[in-house]
Parts: sequence; C-alpha cells; structure tokens
Amino acid sequence: MSEVKTMNTEKWHCVSCRFLLGYVENKKTIRIKRKDLYIEFEGGKVTVLCPRCAKKNELEDTPEKIQDITS
Ligand SMILES: [Zn+2]
Repeated sequence: MSEVKTMNTEKWHCVSCRFLLGYVENKKTIRIKRKDLYIEFEGGKVTVLCPRCAKKNELEDTPEKIQDITS
C-alpha cells in the first residue's frame, strides 16, 4: 500500500538577489519555510516579499515560468 511518487522539487529563488524563497514540488505544491513560518499550498498564485532585499516575487502554478522571470 505504500504510495511512491516521484518527487520533483525545484527551487524558487528571488528574482533580484537569488535568495532561496522556497520549493516547488511536483510543479504545484509550493513550500516556504522560515524559522517561524511554514506555508504550503497548491495551485493559484502566490506573492512573497524577499526577506533579504524586499523584492516582490510572484509565482503561479506553472513553475516553468520561474526560469522566464529570472532571465
Ligand atoms: Zn531578494
């Protein structure tokens, strides 16, 4: 009964300073983990401020866009 999924984890970096904001798993689950904060959600769109440079980072549930944004 063990459920084995191939986890596809990508990193989500700040578009400005490349700070690691969180992780995207299986192209839909986004995890943001800080010392006093943990967020996990699926789908939709998320906006976070970079804790290092305060740049606004937006991510939609199509992680392919991550590469486009940073270019
Ligand atoms: Zn930043």
